[in-house]
Amino acid sequence: MIKTPVSEILQTLVELQKVDNRLGELDISKVFLPKLLNEYKNEVDELEAKMDNLEKAEISLKKAIDVGELDLKETKENLKKSEEKLLKVKSNREYDAVQSEISHLEEKSAKTEEKLLKSMEELDVVQSDLKETTKKFKEIKDGNKEEIKNIQQKLETLEQTIKGVEHEWNMLADKVPKRILATYRRIRGGRDGLAIVKVRKRACGGCFKVLPPQMIQELKKQEKIINCENCGRFLLWDEEVSS
Ligand SMILES: [Zn+2]
Repeated sequence: MIKTPVSEILQTLVELQKVDNRLGELDISKVFLPKLLNEYKNEVDELEAKMDNLEKAEISLKKAIDVGELDLKETKENLKKSEEKLLKVKSNREYDAVQSEISHLEEKSAKTEEKLLKSMEELDVVQSDLKETTKKFKEIKDGNKEEIKNIQQKLETLEQTIKGVEHEWNMLADKVPKRILATYRRIRGGRDGLAIVKVRKRACGGCFKVLPPQMIQELKKQEKIINCENCGRFLLWDEEVSS
């Protein structure tokens, strides 16, 4: 068996860590994108439902106004008839009866007018709300349409992307000795996904513990794999930042 040089193993671990980070991001997208998609869709649906309700309210108010106007017309005609009748009454009793009829009709007419006015005011409010909602709906629908399309496209290719990255992971993992790979996975699971770090100013780049001089010498030689004694992370020497 040909022994893989230490520097190569460490470099592969660095690559593996990058691929693992990418897989982590893709996993987040898998949860996040459908949520985002729903939010965009709901925003449009809610406005559409609001528009629908306002349209229904508009129809029913218009109907109420039509009925009220007819009612008012009829009451006023009856009132006119009663007033004419009043001129022709022959007895006090008859006069009282027609007079009472008139005041009843006047009361009815006033009530209908009041109701009619209220409906008209409501219609004004509903119509201006509908106008605004329709405008907003069109804007949001157009804006979200593009976003929704983008997310759907991303979701469609996500599984395939993940498979590709997983394949990349396997290819890299094959190049790492089993025991080292197992250690890498254990540390990565327990240390915020950071299993291999550069030495920074003679200290571990993960936990910042200063490394003993002898360990520094060994790291520079790159003849064996060295883990931080404190956090267990794989240590990588990089002249630029390490010394
Ligand atoms: Zn450490």
